[in-house]
Formats: sequence, structure tokens, C-alpha cells
Amino acid sequence: THFGASTVPLGEKQGKVDAVFHSVARRYDLMNDLMSAGLHRAWKSALVTSLNPSRTRPFRHLDVAGGTGDVAFRVLEAGGPQTRVTVLDINGSMLEVGRERAGERFGDRISFVEANAESLPLADRSYDGYTIAFGIRNVPRIDLALKEAHRVLRPGGRFLCLEFSKVDVPGMDRIYDAYSFNVIPRIGRVVTGDAESYQYLVESIRRFPPPLAFARMIEEAGFRRVTHRPMTGGVVALHSAWKI
Ligand code: SAM
Repeated sequence: THFGASTVPLGEKQGKVDAVFHSVARRYDLMNDLMSAGLHRAWKSALVTSLNPSRTRPFRHLDVAGGTGDVAFRVLEAGGPQTRVTVLDINGSMLEVGRERAGERFGDRISFVEANAESLPLADRSYDGYTIAFGIRNVPRIDLALKEAHRVLRPGGRFLCLEFSKVDVPGMDRIYDAYSFNVIPRIGRVVTGDAESYQYLVESIRRFPPPLAFARMIEEAGFRRVTHRPMTGGVVALHSAWKI
């Protein structure tokens, strides 16, 4: 099976995703808090704890599909004065909100790049860490994004991916389905006036490969020591890997 492949042509899929995030950019952070009941904060903190950027040495970090900067800000706060983060996203509206949120707080330790995860405008072996949070399921060709992640990391570099997964607690799966198919599009309509966008996002979660299959894809891109762990009963999975 080819996960990520669907009947929707590639260009069309990315177009749809872009329209969603242009339309919700201004309300994106509020929506995250409402829809996850604040849980996305804990998930992102767990991601950054796992990354564990050096507080004393230089650490060059790339956050792909970085959106409004949530993960980047956390990496900068956890790291030291020599931690630098590039926030990369295909969507200028999301990055614009990110720039405003960052303000002057991090000076030139943060930079924003508008680009596609499938083809990074960045040099080989130029980063110590790569994260992608709730972004990879939106990328039409996941295999290309993973190859690019591998290319830009230095040997010894760390790859971490946070993504919605499959609820594996009996009983909770039905509650989760009801929540995501009924509640999420409704919150979407009330807050952004756009239920359809959120319907689309819920569907993209269903189509994303299960954790073991995704771990295989990460390995196929050249990564080693690939592990994954479920969080919140499998609502989310954190995949970790190393470039050797
Ligand atoms: N990482 C942020 C967070 O956790 O709050 C944002 C996640 S948001 C659900 C998904 C992001 O992926 C959007 O900002 C969207 O523009 C971005 N995105 C979608 N397709 C992309 C691609 N091909 N390359 C880079 N970013 C992409």
C-alpha cells in the first residue's frame, strides 16, 4: 500500500491544504487550544523535552511545517544562547502570524523560510535537529519530505515527528471518532466560519499511516534507531529517529 496516495491529484491536495491554512491562520492558535482542550501544549512540550537541545553548545534546529512558531519558540526557550531555529512553512499567512508572535523576543536566533517540505532550499548536513509537528500528514509526498529531512541533517542529527495517530484504548476510539467528526467541524465553523476546512483535516488524520507503517517509511528514507511512542491513548504519536 502507498500511504498518503489518494485519488486527489498531488497539486490539488497541496492547494486544498494551503487554502485551509490561509483561511484559518489568524485563528489557528485559538483553534488548537479549543480543539485539543489545551493538550497540544503538552504534546509539543514532550516533543521538545525529547529533542533536548544543548544549553551550552551551538544547536541548529529546523522546524518544518512550523506554522505560527509554537514548536520553534519552545526549542529556543529550552536551548541556550547558541540555539538557532529556522521555521519553515509553505504558507506565508501562517509564517506571518509566527513572525508577529515572536516579535523581538529571540532576535536573530529565529528565522522564517517559506518553502515546501518536499524540497528544502537548505544545504546538506546543515542542521542538528529536525522537527515536524502536525504537519507531515498534510504533505502530499511524505517519502520526499522524509528524504529531505535526512539530507539536511548532519550525521548524528535527530529527527522527531509529532502527528495524530490511532487511538488504541478500547472505548476511547468511539468517543474520539464522535468528537472528531462532529465536534471539531462545529468548533471550526463557529470560530473560523469554515467547517469544511476542519472536516478536511479530520479526514487527513484517518488517511495517515498507522505508527508502525510510518516508522518503516522513516527507515526507508535512511534513518536509523527509529522508535515511536503513543501519547494520550494514541491520539498522538511521537516518532524519533537518528541520521547515522
Ligand atoms: N507545527 C505547527 C503546530 O504544531 O502548531 C503547525 C501545524 S499545522 C496543523 C500544519 C502546517 O503545515 C501548516 O502551517 C501548513 O501550511 C503546513 N504545510 C502544509 N503542507 C506543507 C508543505 N508541503 N511544506 C511545508 N509546510 C506545509
